Amino acid sequence: MTEATARPAPARPSAADAEKDASMIKQKQMMVTHFDRLADAPETGRKVCSTFVPGNLNELVMCFDLLNNLPEVNAIQSGLRRKSGAYVLEAEKQGHSDDVCTYVKSDIGMMAKGNIGPNGRKLPDPNVLLLSYTGCFTFLKWFELLREQYKCPTIMMHTPYQGDGKITPNMVQYMVRQLKETVIPKLEEVSGVKFDIDRLREYLRKSAAAEDDLVAVLQSAKHKPSPIDAYFGGIYYIGPIFGAFRGTDDAIEYYRFLRAEVEERIRKGEGPVTPEGPMQDQRYRLVVEGPPNYTSFRQFWKMRSLPMRVDMLCNYIEEYEADGLLINSIKSCNSFSAGQLLIMREVERRTGKPAAFVETDLVDPRYFSPANVKNRLESYFQMVEQKRSGARRKEAVA
Ligand code: SF4
Repeated sequence: MTEATARPAPARPSAADAEKDASMIKQKQMMVTHFDRLADAPETGRKVCSTFVPGNLNELVMCFDLLNNLPEVNAIQSGLRRKSGAYVLEAEKQGHSDDVCTYVKSDIGMMAKGNIGPNGRKLPDPNVLLLSYTGCFTFLKWFELLREQYKCPTIMMHTPYQGDGKITPNMVQYMVRQLKETVIPKLEEVSGVKFDIDRLREYLRKSAAAEDDLVAVLQSAKHKPSPIDAYFGGIYYIGPIFGAFRGTDDAIEYYRFLRAEVEERIRKGEGPVTPEGPMQDQRYRLVVEGPPNYTSFRQFWKMRSLPMRVDMLCNYIEEYEADGLLINSIKSCNSFSAGQLLIMREVERRTGKPAAFVETDLVDPRYFSPANVKNRLESYFQMVEQKRSGARRKEAVA
């Protein structure tokens, strides 16, 4: 859920002078520490496990004293620093098609250009690839490419698809068997560290504590004015728990700090701090599906735009008293974008609220057209206004 401001947009400040919450500065420092730990690995002797964000197994990875390296996080960071465009082109030069997920091409291009991480230092080669497979076929293909490049042990942990949204005893047994027979023994072999289940329990407890505070932060968008921009702010808020910091004291501390910051804004009746200053004047409340284009993250935010299933979206529209639904469809993400037009029509039918559809990409700047997106959003907000005046006329007649 996000709220949009009605103020005329001020001149666009540079990234350096963008306003930031204290929590954003704190997270930035956490990311610096993460990338420095990775870059220092050849000196410190720490072993590195490359793994993915969905189905993130950081609590397990940490049980073996391994550092996690998350290729999608690297791609997002490259996107935010406007480096992904050149990486995508480099991967295409190597023959990767136009339609391949741009996270993959950003990662492959980054490797080809020396694997220099977002901190400007070389990222270490992984000692093991841990593929926690949760549904996107691209992940399989991506790790096949990394396996060819690094020739290191590769472990796959397959999470079964919950067709009707239920976890059955068979599914649990299947997951436990993979962990006991393959994943844990292989991680012990690579790391030389014996698995300790109490250590895992402690890391999981820490993740749960951090998540409690994150949920409170996200649900704060029910307040009017909302103290958070749950779309653009939310992208930052989920970073530590979805990325390198699951199960850590750093995550607990960060989310406690963030929650206190947000609760203070609620107490004062304040809106979120956006890159262009505090947002007080909130004219529209939108449920947005689909991640933003990271290469134009701020510009995308500025245009008042912009991640499931129809039920969830309808519930969000109702719970958060939203004016409608906005879908940002990701051109190169076939897994996530499929069916979004149907989702949009169904949400419109069930809620009676207007929906709009824009198409951009994750980290490929070629697929972000500010003029097209702006036009689409302007006509969408006109539709919202028309719906509102229609509703007001009905109320007056009644
Ligand atoms: S295709 Fe979509 S879901 Fe799959 S890795 Fe790329 S961005 Fe993620």
